[in-house]
Amino acid sequence: MKEKKCFAKNDRVTITIEDTGMDGEGIGKADGFTLFVKDAVVGDVIEAKIMKAKKNYAYARLEKVITPSPFRVEPACKFARVCGGCQLQAVSYEKQLEFKQNKVINDLIRIGGFDANYIKSITEPIIGMEQPFFYRNKAQYPIGTDKEGNLIAGFYAGRTHSIIANTDCKLGLTINRPILEEILAFMKEKHIPAYDEILHQGLVRHVLIRSGFSTGEIMVCLVINGKDLPEKETLVKRLLQIDFGNYYYDVKGVYTEGKLDRKDWKITSICQSSNTQDTNVIMGDRYEVIYGNGYITDKIGDVAFRISPLSFYQVNPVQTAKLYETALAYANLTGNETVWDLYCGIGTISLFLAQKAGMVHGVEIIPQAIENAKENAKLNQINNALFYVGKAEEVLPREYEENKIHADVIVVDPPRKGCDEKCLETMIKMQPERIVYVSCDPATLARDLKYLCGNGYQLQKVQAVDQFAQTVHIESVIMMQYCGKEKKK
Ligand code: SAH
Repeated sequence: MKEKKCFAKNDRVTITIEDTGMDGEGIGKADGFTLFVKDAVVGDVIEAKIMKAKKNYAYARLEKVITPSPFRVEPACKFARVCGGCQLQAVSYEKQLEFKQNKVINDLIRIGGFDANYIKSITEPIIGMEQPFFYRNKAQYPIGTDKEGNLIAGFYAGRTHSIIANTDCKLGLTINRPILEEILAFMKEKHIPAYDEILHQGLVRHVLIRSGFSTGEIMVCLVINGKDLPEKETLVKRLLQIDFGNYYYDVKGVYTEGKLDRKDWKITSICQSSNTQDTNVIMGDRYEVIYGNGYITDKIGDVAFRISPLSFYQVNPVQTAKLYETALAYANLTGNETVWDLYCGIGTISLFLAQKAGMVHGVEIIPQAIENAKENAKLNQINNALFYVGKAEEVLPREYEENKIHADVIVVDPPRKGCDEKCLETMIKMQPERIVYVSCDPATLARDLKYLCGNGYQLQKVQAVDQFAQTVHIESVIMMQYCGKEKKK
């Protein structure tokens, strides 16, 4: 056998990048050794420097691209590499989609133990975005001071707490920039200091901007290290005077006067949230309305949602609608079904399904989210949705044992760690006709499907939907049908 070479720190190697890793890094091999190289693109031939060597693998730094990959593109944002928020910006969007699609398929085969040909035959082509930039409806900018003492808004350099000035994140809307610039100008004029994380001094910590894509409503919330922002009325006046019609920068940062994704953006709500804790948590526990009513409204499909500074809401409403559309089609409802929606958050999926179901029961661990879900049900005059606070793995078994609940369809949308086994076990006992699984992590999805499909269910449909272009995050939805021998009635 060929002897494996050992690498040491600072060694230089020339390698071809053959694959993309979980964090978007390039993966290549040198003498049987696996190298993980951040910022390298699949297809690149590169020179890399070993930073940390283990027995069979090493982390290396990209030193030079010798032959660029045909899939390499110029990142739209000049800070892409230092920021780290967009792991895939140097990869063409088609290749990003292929990476995500393959990750779902491969995890189902490798972790789920499904037959490769079968999985390929039931997997639909991934649903990508029409516009893979400017898609986020929520932006949170830290405010600070640069070395020269100028006030800045920007982002934290990857894995650090130093702020790099940039009011122009390409994932967010172009309207964020004039809002941030107005706030910085106001602070400068009124001598209002930015917060200093190390000294735990200063006032303005973060600016949160949330936008309703379907309504044009914008909410601005300043997070402050104190009780009250001075001269709030002046700030309100200045913010309301911004003419959004004059702000449009395309992906390359080219300014085009008057061209805007929508013409009628308006700030309808301005808030402040006090956070005097020495913490990484951005928002305080409460907020105070300075102008407007403290919330904005947005719609996913036909369902309206009221969004306050503290409420959870999907960040990419356009793709979320496509994801839920698919989940709804997979649920195959006729109007009479009883549906359980586990991990329901603010009831987004529950309310979407309620339009076509007999009764929907949503379960969610965070009480505040359930409050929002109930308010949203009222707002949409939806009367056939009931919500429960608690862990899915506790509420479902309890309701099944004590109240003999039944479900025709169960929908789950768990966090990354997937479903608790107790929850899956109860789902099997309940034997719904169909299970729709919405997942933000293909690995735990595959693990949970292995369990469900080992207990009477057959995987029938797989659909990935890209919610987070330029990043490695992967969202997918699958449908399973009950096909066990003795169907309970
Ligand atoms: N379906 C929702 C939210 C999905 S995110 C939407 O589309 O908006 C996952 C949700 O699961 C979060 O709201 C989280 O608070 C909740 N959660 C986490 N662990 C849980 C558990 N053990 N039981 C119930 N809900 C849980």
